[in-house]
Amino acid sequence: MASTVKDQLILNVLKEDQVPQNKIIVGGVGAVGTACAVSVLTKELAGELALVDVIEDKLKGEMMDLQHGSLFLKTPKIVSGKDYSVTANSKMVIVTAGAHQQEGENRLNLVQCNVNIFKFIIPNIVKYSPNCKLLIVSNPVDILTYVAWKLNGFPKHRVIGSGCNLDSAHFRYLIRERFGVHSLSCHGWVLGEYGDSSVPVWSGVNLAGVSLKNLYPSLGTDADAENWKDVHKQVVESAYEVIKLKGYTSWAIGLSVADLAESIMKSLRRVDTISTMIKGLYGIKEDVFLSVPCVLRQNGISDVVKVKLNLEEESRLKKSADTLWGIQKELQF
Ligand code: NAD
Repeated sequence: MASTVKDQLILNVLKEDQVPQNKIIVGGVGAVGTACAVSVLTKELAGELALVDVIEDKLKGEMMDLQHGSLFLKTPKIVSGKDYSVTANSKMVIVTAGAHQQEGENRLNLVQCNVNIFKFIIPNIVKYSPNCKLLIVSNPVDILTYVAWKLNGFPKHRVIGSGCNLDSAHFRYLIRERFGVHSLSCHGWVLGEYGDSSVPVWSGVNLAGVSLKNLYPSLGTDADAENWKDVHKQVVESAYEVIKLKGYTSWAIGLSVADLAESIMKSLRRVDTISTMIKGLYGIKEDVFLSVPCVLRQNGISDVVKVKLNLEEESRLKKSADTLWGIQKELQF
């Protein structure tokens, strides 16, 4: 038989590795999942990207669309499948599957529906990638991070919620708008529950190490003539506005998730605001996940930064923890 063009051209000297290096999974290829996938691809974090979803046509379509752009990417393998064997041996799994908010809907409304989806997804992921880090994005993210942790039996440092990372980024963007200085140089942290009851830490807001609170003690209070409180209000409300305008949010969360993925895949030891098991801190006694600044490394969360909160901030965090626990203890696993 005549040899093929490939045989004439290429002499194979090494079989392909059976275990992929730096494989990342995106679970759920809706608006958020595809934005995460594109952001991860453009950051060149993965040697292989695998997509999973339950809607086969959409899944295959998204995979093909990305594959067709391969020339412009540095991720040599993009695969997809409904069967979780396609996810095997991944380093990290980004979970975005589930129902999303409709216009005006609160994130907590999504809980039981997304818990049921997680009951299917998480054990399948764990079966094929028992050593992965899980990065949960689906909402309500703090509760679903807890659910993922309960369902998989992983140590807590390997179960991470995207939490307030996006809120903190958005907060810094709005500070930038007030000063005309790049967001990277405007420091500020939004902690606690992702969503309506997140807590801005005004004492930590600074530019080049200069504390705004020292400069202007009424910062973030009701007595503040410059109404800095509005910066946090906008962080909370604008996701609702984006959903009203375009039907969903996607790009900002995709970019922020890829940034967290970079911290993990490159073991950067950056401090990011992510949702972690917070029991034992701030007087919280239950198994709840809330956002605090954490150090991210290749094995997940290595350290938590113990931010000094004032009494009001601490009681707001405690209140969120009580609300979340109230919901979590009623969940059907
Ligand atoms: P979407 O409806 O566009 O996509 C969800 C995808 O999940 C769909 O493709 C659906 O087929 C898939 N899915 C459902 N069940 C599945 C299963 N069992 N296995 C695999 N895939 C499954 O929704 P979206 O806009 O992409 O939002 C996804 C989630 O992300 C929502 O819960 C949303 O609230 C959340 N979100 C979180 C943040 C954050 O900051 N944490 C920001 C935006 C959105």
